[in-house]
Amino acid sequence: MPELASLLVDANGEVSVELQFAVDEQKLRTVSGQAHAEVKQLCQRCLEPVTLNLDAEFNLAVVLNEEQAKNLPRYYDPLLLDEEVELSTLVEEELILSLPVVCYHDDCSVQTSFGEDEMPVVEQEKPNPFSVLAALKK
Ligand SMILES: [Zn+2]
Repeated sequence: MPELASLLVDANGEVSVELQFAVDEQKLRTVSGQAHAEVKQLCQRCLEPVTLNLDAEFNLAVVLNEEQAKNLPRYYDPLLLDEEVELSTLVEEELILSLPVVCYHDDCSVQTSFGEDEMPVVEQEKPNPFSVLAALKK
């Protein structure tokens, strides 16, 4: 899974995948199941690795074109088979989608270069832009 690995600190790891392939009552070919992986990304605050548990769920129905995709029951995601699909790529894409947008330690405490105490996880109070003007007036 080179694309997933390129987003991680450590490209070595394991993904466990369990998928069921079936034909449902509507004669739709389905792929369902889940994938799990423990991976490491860099904390965007302290730049140390953070361990993340990724979970991806699959509830796919095979379609051959956009028209069939539109007509799928809502509980399925379309798996468009207009060309051969690599199973590992399918799993990789779902795992990438389950990555957090920004990655932080839950309990990250880091000293800033200004020697302040740990940066709060919550947004810092923004300085009032008018306080600068007030200072100039004085
Ligand atoms: Zn951190």
